[in-house]
Amino acid sequence: MDSETIKLCVKGVIPPRDPDLRKLMHEYSVYKRVLIPRVKQAVRQVIKDKSIAVYAQQKWMVDKKLSEYLKNLPFHPMPFHNQSVWLEEKDGRFWIHFKTKQGEAVCYLHVPIKYHSLIEKACGEDNPVLGQVELIEDKKYGWVNCHITLRLPKPEPYQPKGWLGVDVGWNKLATSIACTCNSHLRFFNPTFHGKEYKTRIIQLRRLLKDYARKGKAWKKWDYRLKHMVKYAVGSVAKEIVSKAKKLKFGIAMEKLTFKSTTKGYLVPRYKLMVAVETLCEREGIPFKLVPAQYTSMTCPKCSYKDDKNRVGERFRCLKCGYQADADIVGAMNISLKALTDAQMEGVMPQASGLRLKGLGLKPKPLGHVARPLRGMSDDLCKATRKPSKIESEVKKEG
Ligand SMILES: [Zn+2]
Repeated sequence: MDSETIKLCVKGVIPPRDPDLRKLMHEYSVYKRVLIPRVKQAVRQVIKDKSIAVYAQQKWMVDKKLSEYLKNLPFHPMPFHNQSVWLEEKDGRFWIHFKTKQGEAVCYLHVPIKYHSLIEKACGEDNPVLGQVELIEDKKYGWVNCHITLRLPKPEPYQPKGWLGVDVGWNKLATSIACTCNSHLRFFNPTFHGKEYKTRIIQLRRLLKDYARKGKAWKKWDYRLKHMVKYAVGSVAKEIVSKAKKLKFGIAMEKLTFKSTTKGYLVPRYKLMVAVETLCEREGIPFKLVPAQYTSMTCPKCSYKDDKNRVGERFRCLKCGYQADADIVGAMNISLKALTDAQMEGVMPQASGLRLKGLGLKPKPLGHVARPLRGMSDDLCKATRKPSKIESEVKKEG
């Protein structure tokens, strides 16, 4: 079950003036009244544990801090099992039903428009799509945040028309290029992703370095940099996935080993890969990892491999003179590897015919395949052809 569903979290909000919220809040306070002592007790037990050597003074301090902390805890996520909660849609507005001890509480649920299509799938009583619902109180404004877990069936990946190679480079955040099996139009639609984040990330890095060196308060720069990188990874991943979806292509990325470094890259490569992978899974886009060796030094035209092919940001093939941006060449090679991989899989005997049709690929000829030559004389044909049974019999008789 778990392998075929994906979990998604949808966030909604119950406004503070909802009339039925009081019923819910009653439940909520009961929940708090039960939960807080339990947490307290658990932590006290840890404090009293004799195997943990702490001074009595410190223990007392921890106890005091703990009471304070629990009193001011900003939110307690209160979980609702999907047996005791269900969603309803009425005229495009969403209502959430809770089973409480005082009867059913029906609250208006404000959902951002981008989640409307998702939450519609979870509406109705006993809907298997709806998972756990967590309520989180917002002390500042009195809203109640609703985190609704949806269990959606994993979409079946489509048959890709080609592969989109994605390379994470030094000078660009990410580069992608589409690659088809059509040999006349191998590569098209190259894109440099995340150009707009590059300067900002570099700037923040420098600021962080400067501040840290001078012993000034550098934490805020660290925080901002981390945020920026996170945001950049998310938006670049979205860009790549939407491009692949539009073209009906699969996505190929480098298989990163543990050794591959993050240093020197603008964004953590592994995180970007994971982000793209999860988005692909959600959207039903085929995702493939290819070995990362020699992607930046092999020529995509003549497959000549030399580490002198790459000079800085440029790529120049020493054999055929092909020139391009080094990151694009990396992306090209990745997509090419994915394509040949897919073709190889297509050649495999199991269910090859169907697969090949779907992929629109022709199997590679294995070994030497004799082709009838045009203009070959009949005599030559006869000479090469084995004489059939009847022919040999005729010869004997003759
Ligand atoms: Zn070449």
